[in-house]
Amino acid sequence: MCVFCKIVNGDIPSHKIYEDDDFIAILDIAQSTIGHALIITKKHYDNVFALPEETAGKLGALAVKLANHINGVLGAGNMNLLNNAGPLAGQTVNHFHLHLIPRYENDGMIIKFDNNKLTEAEFNDLRAKLEITKK
Ligand code: AMP
Ligand code: ZN
Repeated sequence: MCVFCKIVNGDIPSHKIYEDDDFIAILDIAQSTIGHALIITKKHYDNVFALPEETAGKLGALAVKLANHINGVLGAGNMNLLNNAGPLAGQTVNHFHLHLIPRYENDGMIIKFDNNKLTEAEFNDLRAKLEITKK
C-alpha cells in the first residue's frame, strides 16, 4: 500500500486540515514554504492521467476553497498550485496529489519556466496537433 493510502487509512499519522468523502488535505511533511499543503484523493489514482473527470471537477472547487482559506489564515496572498505527474515532472509519490504552496516575499523557492522560441510555422503545427473540441 502506498504512503498516501496509508495516510488516508490512518495507518500512519499526518497533519490533516480537511476531509470530505473524496479528499483529504494535509500539511506536507517538507514545508517548502509555511503552509505547504497537499490535497490527496481518498481513492488511489497513480496521477492526474488516471483521475476521473468528475473527481477532477470536485478537486478544482476544493482547490479554490482551500487556496482562499490558507491565504486568508496565513496572509500570503500568493500561491502556487502545482501537480507533478510522472517522474520526469518530479512526481515522487505515485498517488494523485495537488500541492498548495503559499508564496511570501523572499521565500527562497524557485520555479523556473524556460522560454523556448518557436517559429510561427512550428506554433501553427503544434496548435493543429493539439487542438481539441468540446464533446
Ligand atoms: P511529489 O514530488 O509531487 O510526488 O510530492 C510528494 C510530496 O509528498 C513531497 O512534497 C513530500 O514532502 C510529501 N510527503 C511524502 N511523504 C509524506 C508524509 N508522510 N506526510 C506528508 N507529506 C509527505
Ligand atoms: Zn495510494
